[in-house]
Amino acid sequence: MLLKTLIFNSMRMLIFMTLHGVIPMSTGLNPWEVALKQLDKAAKAMNLDPSLHAILAKPKRILEVSLPVKMDDGSIKVFTGWRVQHNDARGPHKGGIRYHPNTNLDEVKALAMWMTWKTAVVDIPYGGAKGGIQVDPHKLSLGELERLTRRYAYAIAPIISVDADIPAPDVYTSPREMAWIMDTYSMLKGYPEPGIITGKPLEVGGSEGRNEATARGLQYTVEEALNVLGINPKGATAAVQGYGNAGYFSAKFMHELGMKVVAVSDTRGAIYNPDGLDPEAVLEHKKKTGSVKDFPGSTPLASDPVEGNKKLLELDVDVLIPAAIENVITKDNADNIKAKIIAEAANGPTTPEADDILFQKGVLIIPDILANAGGVTVSYFEWVQARTREWWDIDTVRQKLRAKMTKAFRDVYNKHNEMKIDMRTAALVLAVGRVAKAMEIRGIWP
Ligand code: NAD
Repeated sequence: MLLKTLIFNSMRMLIFMTLHGVIPMSTGLNPWEVALKQLDKAAKAMNLDPSLHAILAKPKRILEVSLPVKMDDGSIKVFTGWRVQHNDARGPHKGGIRYHPNTNLDEVKALAMWMTWKTAVVDIPYGGAKGGIQVDPHKLSLGELERLTRRYAYAIAPIISVDADIPAPDVYTSPREMAWIMDTYSMLKGYPEPGIITGKPLEVGGSEGRNEATARGLQYTVEEALNVLGINPKGATAAVQGYGNAGYFSAKFMHELGMKVVAVSDTRGAIYNPDGLDPEAVLEHKKKTGSVKDFPGSTPLASDPVEGNKKLLELDVDVLIPAAIENVITKDNADNIKAKIIAEAANGPTTPEADDILFQKGVLIIPDILANAGGVTVSYFEWVQARTREWWDIDTVRQKLRAKMTKAFRDVYNKHNEMKIDMRTAALVLAVGRVAKAMEIRGIWP
């Protein structure tokens, strides 16, 4: 019994750590090393000027802050946080803030670099940044969490501004924390500054459509991918791994396109129905029971959740959407993947070795920096709205998002065809090329 509990707890910890990018990728490299390798690959494919490559291989600025916080029991605890600004050649730094006990500088650096590429792929006038605090927010009271957040906002205030660096939510931060940061910054300035941060509640300058933005953007890229492959969405099939924000909305939007969502999963199980699942009803079931497991009218893909999730990835579907954790498609299962399109809602679900195998097999991957860029794109819309104090309705947000995502997909797809490289490398070549061009045009001063 004790052994069983121990195994269960360590598995839970493993899943938790992997979900939040704590465990280094299965390549054995840490995220920063992976990010540098990806840059090298793109640089080689595009013959990038070595000087520009050298500049891009380092973040522009790293700020480490020490954050003393008064705890409820009267003691003072000191937390460590970072804000890493990777590049701002194309516009202000942009990127979320992560609260996690295992977050470290290398992870924040990698995430900042990926933001530079993501904003460049969708061609929004931003650079890349990321922030993090090494903390388990679940162990803090609401008051402690607010004091920590406000202290962090105060500590990074000298390097953020509406024109220099605009943070947003990431793992374990939400609109609530964004509102505290916006308030703290505004208090320091002496006037309200809603443009300092995105992902805010609607009441204090958030945007319509922000909660669905990642999956909505993914939907637009999937529509393009289906179109180039000549697949009619009506009656096409999809499987979605993970049923959180990205997974649920992705399933909902695939369903809206007329596709049959035949399988979905979470950490507790993977469910299947060849006639299609109703994403809303599955969500209701998950809200009631805590999992998609045992949804009436579905069959489990396996009794063991890990096995079920494995099987889900190998289903014969048109569109596979990994929307949970990284490194789920590896050299060990890439050969068994039958999907025609993989749309990466999650960050980093496919390892570099699996990428090569899938490219040989002719699977069309919509890489994470393109597929899930709808989130940062609507963040950009929020910033524009906050700066102009003019608020758009949901239809305007969706229409502008569709335009951005469609163009980005076509740019990447054309590059992939033109250079005969996989979609991920094509996205990186495009992104690195745009950033490098901006740097070249601006020059170096002084
Ligand atoms: P979330 O916490 O809302 O949901 C995660 C879901 O994945 C949960 O249903 C969880 O049960 C499930 N899950 C966790 N481990 C799993 C496993 N091993 N097997 C199967 N299911 C598992 O998170 P989210 O915001 O939806 O993010 C999911 C992924 O999408 C992450 O990689 C995240 O970085 C990426 N992403 C999200 C957004 C966004 O706006 N939410 C934006 C860009 C990228």
